[in-house]
Amino acid sequence: MKAFAFARPASFAEAGELLADRRYSLPVLKAGGMDVVDHMKEGLLEPDLLIDIRATGVRPAGISRTDDGGLRIGAMTTLAEIAASPIVRATAPVVADAAGSAATPQVRNVATAAGNLLQRPRCWYYRNEQFHCLKKGGHTCYAVEGENKFHAIFGGGPCHIVHPSNLAPALAVCGGRVHLTGGDRPSLSIDDLYHAPAQGVWSEHELEKNEIITHITIGPASRSGFYAVKEKQSFDWPLVMASVMLRTQGSSITAARVSAGAVAPIPWRLPAVEAALAGVRVDDDAGLRKACAGAADGANPLSDNAYKASLLPVAVRRAVLRATGRDEKEA
Ligand SMILES: Cc1cc2nc3c(=O)[nH]c(=O)nc-3n(C[C@H](O)[C@H](O)[C@H](O)COP(=O)(O)OP(=O)(O)OC[C@H]3O[C@@H](n4cnc5c(N)ncnc54)[C@H](O)[C@@H]3O)c2cc1C
Ligand code: SF4
Repeated sequence: MKAFAFARPASFAEAGELLADRRYSLPVLKAGGMDVVDHMKEGLLEPDLLIDIRATGVRPAGISRTDDGGLRIGAMTTLAEIAASPIVRATAPVVADAAGSAATPQVRNVATAAGNLLQRPRCWYYRNEQFHCLKKGGHTCYAVEGENKFHAIFGGGPCHIVHPSNLAPALAVCGGRVHLTGGDRPSLSIDDLYHAPAQGVWSEHELEKNEIITHITIGPASRSGFYAVKEKQSFDWPLVMASVMLRTQGSSITAARVSAGAVAPIPWRLPAVEAALAGVRVDDDAGLRKACAGAADGANPLSDNAYKASLLPVAVRRAVLRATGRDEKEA
C-alpha cells in the first residue's frame, strides 16, 4: 500500500474543499471504509489523500420524517440503524429489509447508506489485481468466457457486473433521491444515479469528483417488500433480489414499482411486471403469480447463470406478497 495523507474534516463543506485541493491527485472519501479500505488493501485504489467523513461533527442526524410522509436518511446512517429504525419499518419496509438483509451484523454496524450506494462491483476479476479487465482499462471482459455464475443476466455488456447494493433497488422503488453538496446539482434520483457499462465502463455512478452525498430522501412506501434469494440465507450476497412498492385502492393494486437487484449492472426496473400488476387484487394469488411470471423476460444469461432467470420471478412474487403484508408461505 502506498503512503497517503489522512484527513478528518469537521463538515461536508470542508470535505468538499479537500476533494478540490489541487495538491492531491487522487483524494478519496472514506465513510464506513468497508469498500474503500478493501480496495486499498487489494492494490486496486491508491489515493494520496483519504478523507474520513465519519469524524465527529460531520455525521448528521440519522433518520427523520419529511413533510410528504416520506423519510430523510443521513448519508452516514449505518445499515444497522436503517434496519432497526421503527420509522423506516413503518414508512418503507422494503428499505428496512434491504438494509437488514445485507452482509453481516458486523458489516452493517459500520457500512453507511451512501457508501452502500457507491460501493464498487464484486466481480472476482475486477477484485483481483492480476486481471486487467475492461473495467480497469483492459480489452477483455474475462467473465464472458470465464466464471460468470454471479454475473448479470440483463444489461447487454460489454461489462457484465451486477450492481452490488442492496439499498439501491429498494430506494429506487420508493422514489429515492440522493442530495448533494460540492457540485452544481442539489440532488439526483436513484434512477439517474447509475449508468450502464455501455455508457461508461470504468465507473458505475454519475457523481462528479467533488460531489458528496449529504442525505437520501424517499417517498412514503408503507406497502412495500423486499426479497433476496441467497445460497446461504444467514449471510451471503444475494443471487437475485427484488424490491416492490405498491399503491392500492381497496384490495386492488393501482400502481406498482418493481426493481431487481444482482441481475444487472444497475438496479433493474421491470416495467412489464409493473404494468401487469396494475389491476390485480392483492388476494388473487393466481393473478399475482401470472403478473410476476415474466420478470426475467428479455434476460440474456451467460454460460453459468441462467438459474437467475428462474429465480427472479420467484423473488419478485415473494416481494409482492410481502408488500401486501403476506408471507410467501401463505401463497
Ligand atoms: C463480508 C461482506 C458482505 C457484504 N454483503 C453485502 C450485501 O449482501 N449487500 C450489500 O449491499 N453490500 C454488501 N457488502 C458491501 C458493504 O455493504 C459495502 O462495502 C458498504 O455498504 C460500503 O459502505 P461504507 O460506508 O463502508 O463505504 P466506503 O467503503 O467508505 O465507501 C464506498 C464508496 O462510497 C464513496 N462514498 C462514501 N460516502 C460518500 C458520500 N457521502 N458521498 C460521496 N461518496 C461517498 C467512497 O468514496 C467510496 O467510493 C458486503 C461487504 C462485506 C465485507
Ligand atoms: S464483468 Fe466487468 S468487472 Fe468483471 S471481468 Fe468483465 S469487464 Fe471486468
